[in-house]
Amino acid sequence: MFEQLALHGGSPVRPLLLPYGKQQVEEDDIAAVVEVLRSDWLTVGPTIEAFEEAFAHFVGASYAVAVSSGTAALHAAMHALEIGSGDEVIVSPLTFAASANCIIYQNGTPVFADVEPDTLLLDPHQVEEKLSARTKAIIAVDYAGQPCDYDALKAIARRHGLAVVADACHSVEGRYRGRAVGALGDLNVFSFHPVKHLTTGEGGMVTTNDAELAQRIRMFRNHGVSTDHRQRAAHGSYYYEMVTLGYNYRISDIQCALGLSQLKKLPAFVRRRQELAARYDEAFATLEGIVPVNVRADRVSAYHLYPVRCRLDALDLTRDAMYAALRAENIGVNVHYLPVYLHPYYRRRFNVGPGLCPIAEAAYKRLLTLPLFPRMTDEDLMDVIAAVKKIIRSYR
Ligand SMILES: *Cc1c(COP(=O)(O)O)cnc(C)c1O
Repeated sequence: MFEQLALHGGSPVRPLLLPYGKQQVEEDDIAAVVEVLRSDWLTVGPTIEAFEEAFAHFVGASYAVAVSSGTAALHAAMHALEIGSGDEVIVSPLTFAASANCIIYQNGTPVFADVEPDTLLLDPHQVEEKLSARTKAIIAVDYAGQPCDYDALKAIARRHGLAVVADACHSVEGRYRGRAVGALGDLNVFSFHPVKHLTTGEGGMVTTNDAELAQRIRMFRNHGVSTDHRQRAAHGSYYYEMVTLGYNYRISDIQCALGLSQLKKLPAFVRRRQELAARYDEAFATLEGIVPVNVRADRVSAYHLYPVRCRLDALDLTRDAMYAALRAENIGVNVHYLPVYLHPYYRRRFNVGPGLCPIAEAAYKRLLTLPLFPRMTDEDLMDVIAAVKKIIRSYR
């Protein structure tokens, strides 16, 4: 006898929805924010530098520049690399739209290269296929938390005089051939949105070993002005110069206080994600019907996400049916991602459509993201596994 699916009127595996991701903010995080609120500097103050220095040290990069979001960090990276009209930037399609939008902010052209079938990471061979005389940079996305093949990407970049940007919004604390995420690309971009590994509410960071790129990003986040308010205050000077067109992409000291406090817990947060992911892997290893994304032997994933692919051939079940069935069981599944160029804006503006990156498109049709966040309990995990098994049993 099969248990009746919640979708068909049976009782759900759990009474309340388990979200796919959630931040973890504790009393000491709150106290750190309150302390800054009582201080003289709510923004452009010393807590921003303290967060930047701690983050740079944590990831092993020479410089870190904090900005208002991961998207601002990507835009700043494109500006620092002087991407402009006529320039092409190769990017993975299986990502959040911001990874490619940043190219368009600078009037550059995003060129989508397909992903590897097992890891769903930007495929270096596909990158080579998409190179042209106009190519200026590669944006590699560490999908779900696994670092891309940076040695291969950097070898291509070296041969053709390109820059490599790591969109590491999923992968802080990940490792590639023993090296930490944060200095694998020429520029490395992080997000501190609440679903990410550590949060500042909204916020982002760029890390680099290049002093000049770091300085360009510092100016870009502050209207293109060459000195900041606090430097001028220290020298008692009113004079400042705007030397390039920048934006207000500043992060506040209030946010950085939260970030600094969260950073201390980051290793424990990521360890818990890895532990939960290992238990998912174990549960699904012998389960016909879904396949986790492969993590290569030379990588450590930081597991921002735990995506699986539904084996549509093995089951009389579509991804959307599986999604609806899991939702009915109160398992908060999600889908990451619709290939960027299939969004209506991209189709219209770049005259693209299905067929551009077949591996990413085929993956999208089968992908489901299961809940994963540090505070998830072992019981929550067992609920997810039970719901997946219950649905697969009833469709096989
Ligand atoms: C979250 C995310 C971003 C954007 O970060 P925000 O802080 O939300 O602006 C960019 N790229 C990827 C891959 C992301 O997951």
